Amino acid sequence: MPLCGVLGWPVRHSRSPAMHEAGYAALGLEDWRYQLLPVPPELFEETVRALPAVGFVGANATIPHKEAALALADEATPRARAIGAANTLSFAAGGRIHADNTDAPGLIDALPRSPSGQRALVLGAGGTARAAVWALLDAGAAEVMVWNRTRARAEALCAALGGRVVKAPEPADLLVNTTSVGLHPSDDPFKELALDADGLDGYPCLVDLVYGSAPTALTAAARAAGCEVVDGLEVLVRQGARSFERWTGRSAPLDVLRAAARGDGAGQHAG
Ligand code: NAP
Repeated sequence: MPLCGVLGWPVRHSRSPAMHEAGYAALGLEDWRYQLLPVPPELFEETVRALPAVGFVGANATIPHKEAALALADEATPRARAIGAANTLSFAAGGRIHADNTDAPGLIDALPRSPSGQRALVLGAGGTARAAVWALLDAGAAEVMVWNRTRARAEALCAALGGRVVKAPEPADLLVNTTSVGLHPSDDPFKELALDADGLDGYPCLVDLVYGSAPTALTAAARAAGCEVVDGLEVLVRQGARSFERWTGRSAPLDVLRAAARGDGAGQHAG
């Protein structure tokens, strides 16, 4: 029985098991399973090294394990190394561990069109911002601006990966929120992200990486302003599809993964 799973701490609210298991069922991969793997940081490495022997072919790593996942890998893709984090581990015969970062291509896959030649504004300078800046530059964005509450972190990110630090949000073809603002219903993106509520039409397209059970205040306001909106669940689906394809060798049934991630019926397996 091939096993996959998601390593996190905490991880109980992950939508990945429902998404991947719905994909297995749709493709007739009846004996595949995807498990929640709640692992604290101090047990991360020994747990990962034990997984292949009990039948795991791969595992996703999420908060707070993405840097540790890259560090323990025997080999890694250039993008995982450049970003400094991995979310997809694959186990080869003999126990060798391969690391990739599918958050970066997953973001590009989720966009309505290629960012090639476009100007993008990335809000945030954490791990997700690193993947976004790398991905946008790699996909040929003409300019990537980075705004972060703590400016020094934006400066460090741009020094490492490229992009230009901005003191205040500037208009762009694409606005990408990689901060955690929006996770809580009381968050005010216009106050906390220095955005002008009346200026959202200066961003024809918004990607908000944050997702929850309801649309974020930022996505709701952007839709009302007539912007094209990609929400965090679509990015989750796209990064998951990349991992799914790497492990199973099959094309991911995107509609099935999407329905399961959104919990709207068809294909949903587990909570
Ligand atoms: P992180 O490394 O902890 O970075 C958090 C970022 O949010 C930092 O830039 C931080 O700014 C900013 N921030 C936090 N609170 C803020 C506030 N009150 N006002 C302004 N800025 C604030 O986190 P991460 O791992 O990059 O994750 C960020 C978000 O992306 C999370 O919500 C996560 O769930 C989401 N995410 C979604 C997907 C997906 O597939 N949809 C994938 C990965 C991550 P400072 O530097 O000033 O602290």
